[in-house]
Amino acid sequence: MNAPQPPIAEMSAAAVAARVEVTIRPEVRALNAYAVAKAHGAIKLDAMENPYDLPAPVHAELAAVLARVPLNRYPDGPGDSIKQALARSLGLPKEVGLVLGNGSDEILQIVTTSVCGSEAVVLAPDPSFVMYRLNALYAKARFVGVPLRADFALDVSAMLAAIERERPALVWIAYPNNPTGNLFPEAAVEQIIAAAPGLVVVDEAYYAFADHSFLPRVLEFANLVVVRTVSKIGMAGLRLGYAAAHSAWIAEFDKVRPPYNVNALTQAALPVLLSHEATLARQAQDICAERARLSGVLARTQGVTTYPTQANFVLARVPDANGWFAALWAAGILVKNLHGTHPLLAQCLRITVGTPAENDRLLAAVSSWS
Ligand SMILES: *Cc1c(COP(=O)(O)O)cnc(C)c1O
Repeated sequence: MNAPQPPIAEMSAAAVAARVEVTIRPEVRALNAYAVAKAHGAIKLDAMENPYDLPAPVHAELAAVLARVPLNRYPDGPGDSIKQALARSLGLPKEVGLVLGNGSDEILQIVTTSVCGSEAVVLAPDPSFVMYRLNALYAKARFVGVPLRADFALDVSAMLAAIERERPALVWIAYPNNPTGNLFPEAAVEQIIAAAPGLVVVDEAYYAFADHSFLPRVLEFANLVVVRTVSKIGMAGLRLGYAAAHSAWIAEFDKVRPPYNVNALTQAALPVLLSHEATLARQAQDICAERARLSGVLARTQGVTTYPTQANFVLARVPDANGWFAALWAAGILVKNLHGTHPLLAQCLRITVGTPAENDRLLAAVSSWS
């Protein structure tokens, strides 16, 4: 029998900490919670959000639809009706199934949990999206990062060698890659899919800004899942992501998905937003045009290197990332400072493409010290 314990409210901080320490997994205690910077009213160019709000009539239409949602009821568990709407809008053949997530972050976790036991290896290029590594840790799988080249190109032979050596249960390819922005060559991704003994997930969070997608090819391979999200195209607050794959894979993911993971308001909003796809597509086009301008001006700035991007952000290597970050913050602009997060990302800032006015503010600030 354990000795009787006092209520936690009466325990000393040291006693609480000791209790936590013997209870929580050490690898979890060693983590820091995912840090999200608060913008405090600054121009927000740190999180790959769409800078454009929805047009007022769309807001009004949404308000009317959301007002009628019966919130006393659980939502449609698997989200069948919005899956149908999505499948129609994406033109998916009937053999392709969808599973919905509370953001694609949840999809990443569902896929990792479905595939990986404690002996499994999860493999991804490195640097890439940090959640691939974290989800592997949660699942007690072993994460293997395969370094990108110094210019962030995919090292295909290193990837293939690592796949041969490690026999990963799961390979992640962010397509385009975050935080570097580049789109790996299609043929290289094909080679990786062909060589992988397990699943390959092509994470297309930035599909709207890229000139190629694996979604139309999802049935061409035995082991391909494509993941997308509505977050980067203008609905980050909605929290909706999805995986598309042969329905045999989707049936397994559905067993791991929490029963009511996509809430009723999100499910009600999605068809309205799909009916305004042309507006969102126009915004994506505007963002791509601004991306070219922003990246071009930065590339001509003394001491700055920019990298090819097919996402809604620009990765820039600057002379002093910490100094630039602080000076931009002082000018009321929040970007993502990647310096110190990975050796290949030394002196790198990740700048989300904003509205023309926001980008002008950023470029004016930069020209004031460059
Ligand atoms: C932003 C991002 C996600 C997560 O998106 P949510 O749907 O908002 O959870 C997933 N993968 C990559 C590569 C991303 O950059």
